[in-house]
Amino acid sequence: MNTRSKTLFDAAQQVIPGGVNSPARAFGPVGGDPRFIAKGEGARIVDADGTSYIDFVGSWGPLILGHAHPEIVAAVNAAAAGGTSFGAPTEIEVKMAQLVAEMVPSVEMVRMVNSGTEATMSAIRLARGHTGRNKIIKFEGCWHGHADSFLIQAGSSALTMGAPSSPGVTPGTAADSITVPFNDLEAVEKAVVENGDEIAAVIVEPVAGNMGVIPPEPGFLQGLRDVTAEMDIVLIFDEVITGFRVSQGGAQELYGVTPDLTTLGKIIGGGLPVGAFGGRREIMSDISPLGKMVSQAGTLSGNPLAMTAGYETLRRLEPGVYEALEAKAQALETGILENLKALGLNYQTNRVGSIMTLFFTEVPVASFDAANACDQDLFARYFREMLNRGVYLAPSQFEAAFVSLAHSDADIDKTIKANYEALKACVS
Ligand SMILES: *Cc1c(COP(=O)(O)O)cnc(C)c1O
Repeated sequence: MNTRSKTLFDAAQQVIPGGVNSPARAFGPVGGDPRFIAKGEGARIVDADGTSYIDFVGSWGPLILGHAHPEIVAAVNAAAAGGTSFGAPTEIEVKMAQLVAEMVPSVEMVRMVNSGTEATMSAIRLARGHTGRNKIIKFEGCWHGHADSFLIQAGSSALTMGAPSSPGVTPGTAADSITVPFNDLEAVEKAVVENGDEIAAVIVEPVAGNMGVIPPEPGFLQGLRDVTAEMDIVLIFDEVITGFRVSQGGAQELYGVTPDLTTLGKIIGGGLPVGAFGGRREIMSDISPLGKMVSQAGTLSGNPLAMTAGYETLRRLEPGVYEALEAKAQALETGILENLKALGLNYQTNRVGSIMTLFFTEVPVASFDAANACDQDLFARYFREMLNRGVYLAPSQFEAAFVSLAHSDADIDKTIKANYEALKACVS
């Protein structure tokens, strides 16, 4: 018997490549068919067949307050009733920019865009325009969206020239992106020395979230700050996941290292499509229509519905929120570690506040290579066992679990129980 999800997925595959509008949604790495979601409420989602799950994806990060928060829904409804888009400035954009500048230490000025991809793409163009240099340094396993400059892997001559990691990216573009290992400060210093004064920017996820959660090692972020400051290289923290997630001011506040530019996404839109890039006034003042006139524009940028959802979300992120999130996520991690111990397993967890990953490897994970050493078949089995027990995780080993304010103690307990049974089923 076909489920409604299966019927929808079959139909979707006829008209949408792979049946999904973003490949991470397909259950490729874990097998089976994706669940089509009918609705969400708080910490739960319900699929097209009426099955309810405790959700740890949270739309891949944005839903720090949970699904369909009543006050945010009401605010968005009210905004929609007043007109959905004008292509002219509105008051909510000013309030939003003021709030972001207040919350995020590095941000003196900020531009709103429609996705994290647009934010990072615009930030490196600005860094290049501002410095008059061409190359960027990025890190293995970090994800900055799908702009060409980031779809580059280390080439045969890794320190000087990258190779496209997707068809359609030109070797010319690849030549300007240098990829070095995450948490490897020496590699950064070497790349800077070898490329002289050609480096416009270093871009990093200050806590890696797209190879599973990997925190920065002590001194790594400060080391990046020092080497970039010395060479007048623009340091960009891609805080699309960590912004408003690991603290009010993101990872830069948590670790006390201030970048030149910051890219934001996910939480900043409260579940609607928003990205942003901001930072030092001197650099931001080179964006069109100012200074060096670095190009950047958007028909729907600063959209009133999206700004309302974002503003109403951000202004609810009081310090107490992060204490509550920490308590919930810590309880979850502790429960999982106790389960592992009880079952005689030595798999690793990494956690920073409310983002965490259970890695199916016995070796601590501090690099992309270490993450890649995980047993992905075992993860796939674990994923399916959890799904069957009503817990919806990201369908890949290389993702974070996102705990939201809507997860109750009962949700956490239920998840810990499911984790025990799922792990037991995996290894028996
Ligand atoms: C999700 C993500 C992006 C891309 O954002 P989109 O809104 O999906 O384009 C960029 N950087 C990081 C760190 C991300 O996690």
